[in-house]
Amino acid sequence: MVIASDIDRLIQLLSKLPGLGPRSARRAVLHLMKNREQLLRPLGAAIVSAGKNVQSCSQCGNLDMADSCGICSDRRRDPSVICVVEEVADLWALERTAVYRGFYHVLGGVLSPLDGVGPEDLNISGLVARARKEHVKEVILATSTTVDGKTTAHYIADRVENCGVTVSVLAHGIPVGGELDYLDDGTLSAALKERRSAKSKI
Ligand SMILES: [Zn+2]
Repeated sequence: MVIASDIDRLIQLLSKLPGLGPRSARRAVLHLMKNREQLLRPLGAAIVSAGKNVQSCSQCGNLDMADSCGICSDRRRDPSVICVVEEVADLWALERTAVYRGFYHVLGGVLSPLDGVGPEDLNISGLVARARKEHVKEVILATSTTVDGKTTAHYIADRVENCGVTVSVLAHGIPVGGELDYLDDGTLSAALKERRSAKSKI
């Protein structure tokens, strides 16, 4: 039963994706099987290609086909500002607003003592090194308003404070525990435009 085991494997793997349980994974697989030429084969090829070609930008942590990524190598961007986000999804959310024209730094998570995530597990030393560069004037902390997100913002503010940069945080409007990716573009744009000094906000 080679075919059945392939299907089982597909269902098993797809059900590990965020938002997909076994039931929706089964439906997705059946849908793929019904649409082999239009969906199953192109999807398979796209996954193989992404696995081969997509990489993390060594400067900011964004995902792209090239290192440096399209954002880091865009000379029209403002090199004086770095916006610090938890995950690539947050970077994408900010990019969708088309308001922010500086650079980014993806931490790869938040500090979480309970889960054993310490500063060395996040891309923080890379950020400190970037913040020390002369052209960088401001670091915007766009971590979430969860306890861990705030702890992370505090920690980073302490680390980059003596790099000679202004440290700011997004304005209120971000729901408690909310992740950037879930915000509508208008709220996010406003939070970015009305950002404040980190000293009074965190
Ligand atoms: Zn980059």
